[in-house]
Amino acid sequence: MAFSEAIKSKVRKKAHLSCCLCKAIGVEVHHIIPQEENGPDAEENAAPLCPSCHETYGANPQKRKFIREARDLWYEICEKRYASDPDRLNEIKRLLQNTVSYEDFQSFKEELLSHMVQGLETPRNEEEILAALDELFDKVWYNRHQVHRSKVISGQKEINAEIWKQAQKAARKIEKRYGKAALGPRDDFEWGMINGKLSALRWVLGDEWDMLDT
Ligand SMILES: [Zn+2]
Repeated sequence: MAFSEAIKSKVRKKAHLSCCLCKAIGVEVHHIIPQEENGPDAEENAAPLCPSCHETYGANPQKRKFIREARDLWYEICEKRYASDPDRLNEIKRLLQNTVSYEDFQSFKEELLSHMVQGLETPRNEEEILAALDELFDKVWYNRHQVHRSKVISGQKEINAEIWKQAQKAARKIEKRYGKAALGPRDDFEWGMINGKLSALRWVLGDEWDMLDT
């Protein structure tokens, strides 16, 4: 026998489609007690594991208790993950109601994620990530510089002449590199996008989410 589609789908959803050991996206539903030992096709005996963890730990009887504990902890984390933000959840639900059914959207999401997992075979390299970060930092700095500039010009702010000269020089360099049109002004939505991109890239490099110190 094997797990029913209903159980597999439930396990995947409870785990947010991620491996309960390494948290990689894209899981197989594993029998903790194997079928050869009459392990039941029940949810209690099922664990979401990525193909790699499945291969590494799946057949090791010593790891059964560990997998079960990791699974229960992961389910708990997944359940709490978005619970603290009911407004956002409601907003997502509202958006979904206006488009497709939740089931449609789930299958769309699974498709999208499996596509992205395939993309992991050729991820962006470090050089590309750093170049993108560099550009975002430049644009954030330039915006701050413009704010300073208007304060300096209006006399609201005094600044050391030498520092100001260097700052102006850096600003000219950035204008030359990206073109003035690409440097703003930006509305709130556009700033949101820039900060989102910056936060995502910094997360990839090991920062916490929402790390926006620049
Ligand atoms: Zn894994």
